Amino acid sequence: IRTIGILGGGQLGRMLSVAASRLGLRCHVYEPGAAPAGDVAHALTTAPYEDPAALRAFAESVDVITYEFENVPTSALDLLESIRPIRPNRRALAVSQDRLSEKTFLNQIGLATAPFADVPAQTDLAGALARIGAPAILKTRRLGYDGKGQLRIEDPAGVEWTGAPSVLEGFVEFSAEISVIIARGADGQVAAYDPGLNVHRGGILRTTTVPCGLPARVATDAVLIAARIANALDYVGVMGVELFVTPQGLVVNEIAPRVHNSGHWTQAGCVVDQFEQHIRAVAGLPLGDGRRHADVVMENLIGDDVARVPELMATPGVQMHLYGKGEARPGRKMGHVNRIGR
Ligand code: ATP
Ligand code: MG
Ligand code: MG
Repeated sequence: IRTIGILGGGQLGRMLSVAASRLGLRCHVYEPGAAPAGDVAHALTTAPYEDPAALRAFAESVDVITYEFENVPTSALDLLESIRPIRPNRRALAVSQDRLSEKTFLNQIGLATAPFADVPAQTDLAGALARIGAPAILKTRRLGYDGKGQLRIEDPAGVEWTGAPSVLEGFVEFSAEISVIIARGADGQVAAYDPGLNVHRGGILRTTTVPCGLPARVATDAVLIAARIANALDYVGVMGVELFVTPQGLVVNEIAPRVHNSGHWTQAGCVVDQFEQHIRAVAGLPLGDGRRHADVVMENLIGDDVARVPELMATPGVQMHLYGKGEARPGRKMGHVNRIGR
């Protein structure tokens, strides 16, 4: 394998491109939008996913196709896959593109999720609320991220509607949120990173801390859950698994079939970070050493946080990552820092 095709030119695609370059590989990024961060790839196509000629030319120019973003239309994936392999596979994409199939799949392989109900239309909401109870969270089945497309329901009277087919989730009383970043190679070998402790603000990931500070049995259980998911999907690549820690055990929140924001700490905490690990896996290379050699706090730089960059640059033990995006709009992820701790 010489050239990796990456669907999506955001910061994840950018960091994957850098990792591929370091391994002597070439990258071709396909970005349907403004390609805010696709500029470091060797080749960049900016065209919509509804452009068969552009998709065909892209696929023919690469050896394998991966993605930094799971919401690629099925028609585009069908065309791409008729030309080159897509890794992680279509099943992983299908399961994680839709919160209803995701939760159904997780329950089928014996993993706990929040209680949930299908809410195809607004008229189904009252029945779902009667079953799940309040408090609850209504989430669009597709396309949500950073807490978008979600409504918290405290009082079943007078609820609003997301405007799209949704799932209603019972509210999980968790003591902490953690995530596992796991890699699975083409040969089925699995390498997991230490679970990180995640703190969100306004639905957006704020910090990830390793070690997560939870008992070893919880951390081990989290890794076993992630491995079960990866094996069940015959997964190839890096995957992020978000979990809630509860007195009754771990509850899976969601899975992301790609490198994950809560895995950015691996850039400073491991010899082989999640980006290199993903490129190795999709290129059919052996997985690298994912052991953690440092304590790290990853902090996202969101919107106006970029004003703190000069000060952070001058702080010892801080590794800076900036995504080269233009305007610092509220809620926009502009970069992150990894602080080496102790
Ligand atoms: P991401 O950017 O991680 O993809 P998302 O938009 O897909 O986010 P979720 O991960 O489903 O959203 O939810 C965002 C946050 O909201 C969670 O990290 C958690 O803090 C809270 N949350 C979501 N679902 C529940 C639930 N069922 N019970 C309690 N809290 C929840
Ligand atoms: Mg999500
Ligand atoms: Mg999430």
